[in-house]
Amino acid sequence: MIRDIYYSVDYCVDRLVSDMEKLKLYREKLREMTQEVDEDTRSVQPMTNRGFIETVFGVEKRDEVKVKIPEGIRNKGSGPVKKMMIGEKEMAILKAKKGSRKCGRCGEYVDHNARTCKKKANDSASK
Ligand SMILES: [Zn+2]
Repeated sequence: MIRDIYYSVDYCVDRLVSDMEKLKLYREKLREMTQEVDEDTRSVQPMTNRGFIETVFGVEKRDEVKVKIPEGIRNKGSGPVKKMMIGEKEMAILKAKKGSRKCGRCGEYVDHNARTCKKKANDSASK
């Protein structure tokens, strides 16, 4: 299930990366969902590793679960497994999230500037 989620995100980002406006909307939706999840789980007791695995992968896959528990899956979003699964593109997006400077070229609040803007790269590549 988790893999499906990562795949979906990866797929969407892949499709939207050429359209900054849509990608921005997608980012906002993800952020909203993340905040909802954050609020929903605030009162929840932290799960044990096993409990987490069982919930995520479903009890019917119990046999697979005991084969291998990925290390670091416990660490919310900071484990090596997740980082690996997220991929460079998402990392770039996450990085971009932190940006607060407005790019003069694409008008996005990002951590690049007009000189390093992707839009410029795309434009010159298409010429
Ligand atoms: Zn830009």
